[in-house]
Amino acid sequence: MRLEPGPIVVASHNPGKVREIRELLAPFGFEVRAAGELDLDEPEETGTTFEENAILKARAAAEASGLPALADDSGLAVDALGGEPGIYSARWAGEDKDFARAMRNVEEKLQAAGATAPERRSGQFVCVLALAFPGGEVRTFPGIVPGTLVWPPRGHQGFGYDPMFLPDGESRTFGEMSAEEKHGWKPGETHALSHRARAFMRFAGECLGPR
Ligand code: IMP
Repeated sequence: MRLEPGPIVVASHNPGKVREIRELLAPFGFEVRAAGELDLDEPEETGTTFEENAILKARAAAEASGLPALADDSGLAVDALGGEPGIYSARWAGEDKDFARAMRNVEEKLQAAGATAPERRSGQFVCVLALAFPGGEVRTFPGIVPGTLVWPPRGHQGFGYDPMFLPDGESRTFGEMSAEEKHGWKPGETHALSHRARAFMRFAGECLGPR
């Protein structure tokens, strides 16, 4: 499925995600509109998987705007916590989006589970991108980055749980990396670091074609 450059909606109200997806789309000549700028409603995330929630958000934005829409559902899945917070990653931060509290909550649960050694503190950031068209057609693209949960949190860059996530093979957390280091990816490159950049690489490979 090819997507020709033109207007596209990024179906998210999360400024951190919108910024990253906008930067990923930049080389392809799309006219990016965020759901918030178009005053689109934020649908309730009633799905039970990242994929279902990504589809639900992309479809809602494509129908409401009449434009192709790209949605991201993502989160942190901690192995020792049975995959939590998972699809509830945003909710753990509460109404006031307090991620210092959400990270503390993860740490307290890891401590309660006796997960103090780094090898017991593994987890993944997961992202599923969904591309939906106004006619109802939809495709999904997954991306995962494995890593270790560290405490205390390190760095002030990125968003959400970034400061406590040390990706495998790296010496700095996502919170200590620049945006470019975390999710930088350019057409033609075969490696991307973040879950979102990995999902985007798949999406670009299938829908945007060679540049
Ligand atoms: P949702 O996909 O809007 O339901 O929320 C995803 C939540 O997962 C975000 O609010 C963050 O808490 C977390 N999350 C997803 N991707 C990232 C990331 O790249 N860094 C840090 N936290 C993330």
